Amino acid sequence: MSEYESHEYDVVVIGAGGAGLRAAIEAARSGSKTAIICKSLLGKAHTVMAEGGAAAALGNADDRDGWKVHFKDTMKGGKYLNNWRMAQIHAQESADRIRELEQWGAVFDRTPAGLINQRNFGGHTYPRLAHVADSTGLEIIRTLQEKGIHSGIDIFMEYTVSHLLQDEDGTCTGCVAYNRVDGAMHAYSAKSTVLATGGITRCWSVCSGSWEYTGDGHALALNAGAELIDMEFVQFHPTGMVWPPSVRGILVTEGVRGEGGVLRNSEGKRFMFDNVPEMFKGDHAETEEEATEWVRQVVAGEKASVRRPPELLTRDVVAKAINKEVAEGRGSTHGGAYLDIANQRSAEEIIAKLPSMHHQFRELAGVDITKEPMEVGPTAHYVMGGVRVDAESQESTVNGLFAAGEVASGLHGANRLGGNSLSDLITFGKRAGEHAAKRADTLAQPGIEDAQVQSAITEMLAPLNREGGENPGLIYDEMRDMMQAKVGIIRTKEEMTEAMDDLAAFNERQAACFPGTSRKYNSGWHQALDLKNMVDVSTAATLAALTREESRGGHTRDDFPGEIEEWGKILNIIHMENGE
Ligand code: FAD
Repeated sequence: MSEYESHEYDVVVIGAGGAGLRAAIEAARSGSKTAIICKSLLGKAHTVMAEGGAAAALGNADDRDGWKVHFKDTMKGGKYLNNWRMAQIHAQESADRIRELEQWGAVFDRTPAGLINQRNFGGHTYPRLAHVADSTGLEIIRTLQEKGIHSGIDIFMEYTVSHLLQDEDGTCTGCVAYNRVDGAMHAYSAKSTVLATGGITRCWSVCSGSWEYTGDGHALALNAGAELIDMEFVQFHPTGMVWPPSVRGILVTEGVRGEGGVLRNSEGKRFMFDNVPEMFKGDHAETEEEATEWVRQVVAGEKASVRRPPELLTRDVVAKAINKEVAEGRGSTHGGAYLDIANQRSAEEIIAKLPSMHHQFRELAGVDITKEPMEVGPTAHYVMGGVRVDAESQESTVNGLFAAGEVASGLHGANRLGGNSLSDLITFGKRAGEHAAKRADTLAQPGIEDAQVQSAITEMLAPLNREGGENPGLIYDEMRDMMQAKVGIIRTKEEMTEAMDDLAAFNERQAACFPGTSRKYNSGWHQALDLKNMVDVSTAATLAALTREESRGGHTRDDFPGEIEEWGKILNIIHMENGE
């Protein structure tokens, strides 16, 4: 029998990014005894890395904007596979959530009239992203954390949740976690549990995500019997760094293009003019002169009276266009495209609007973006797929289990518009916290069933008790390379069928790996436990991608190019049956 410490809460939130913090604040404000459990230190969640801004139709930079235009843009960007009700709630409520952040102390960039300033981003008809230069996530996390720690929330930092607890009806009754520092085990009884664990992009070797993005929440939900939807839709952001190799994949914010940056191939051609899909024809400039005039108007603070440059097409379109240039031999020196802001804006403007990008390229690539173009290429950035939730409450198909933020699905359909994640976190984080608290109000504290906790602990400790085996780091690297090669930006039946076999083999290897014997800050052990989740979510993503025989948004099939009408009405739902 293993020892563990027991805890009791009304609401347990797993994750301390924007969605988790906002959910916990709302639950605590509703009077629930609330805890947050997070894998890293508070303040280190992925949200802190967000750069360009949070989309909300405040109408400050252009008063033609409003929730209906935001709703339309979101649905169109998602290729109409979005949950329309979530898109409506998001468009209607996100502006209030941004204003609320301002009341809680967030200092956004300002318009000359002193209102929250908004910048242009791909797929948004009007300038819509509330921002703080190119470090918006940092300001949002700082604000939510300050609000959160004064709301009486208990915080368990550097704890990883490995299992959900369930009663005989399958209702979620809490979770089990281990402390990463000393390996101690903890069991939580919770009337409501909120998953806010972020995304899965660490499953690909070229990605913009941090070490935490191993899809834990997706796997926890799947293993608890919840449904996942849209898992084939993985967003490859068009502009990650491509050089030097040690920084490949690190994000270059879309804010660069929002501020007027242009994309060129090795022949100096502005190739996006040749890549405007039928559904976006009419929305974008057709000549360099028109695009240049748009930038002039934006810089002058005028309402744009001409069409946006084609660099501001949605991310799926731009990523595929860059991929095509490289594949056809017109890529940049290191296999990407050239992104130039130096010839569009003054050095002072670039440093004021994009200070992190200026610093990032100077320090990591030795490139001065006020003088030279950047080299950029697609990087796995965001998963549109995740836990299927009720639009109003964010409850999953498992009673008592809620999900918000990147781990949840529905809002973005086949492709997310930039900026719509930060606003998603605060809009649906709030709703998840509110409804989790409401549910908790009606229930008695569930008991912690010792046998379930013991079984979870036995599974967790298994890697430490093996007598030899492969190091988990080797499996981790190989699996990510395999997903990059076979389930990447362009997909085929042949490669994905191979990937399914490879994943079955990786599953066997992870189940036999050996990270050493220590429970004290043993990162190999943590990785061994993450690997199981990575296999589960990679399998879900591959299976969904294999099933969808068309190309749409973040899912491109070489063997099924183009959208097929019937698929526009179908969602792939993944769930476990008898552990499979
Ligand atoms: P996260 O912020 O990732 O938080 C997840 C939390 O869950 C963390 O606290 C983690 O420790 C915890 N966790 C995970 N697994 C476990 C576990 N097993 N046990 C316990 N805790 C766990 N979007 C925009 O809208 N605008 C932008 O400008 C923008 N810029 C971006 C820039 C970069 C570089 C990147 C990578 C993304 C960007 N995005 C942007 C996307 C956006 O930042 C993310 O989608 C969003 O922050 C996810 O927030 P979240 O709250 O869902 O999860």
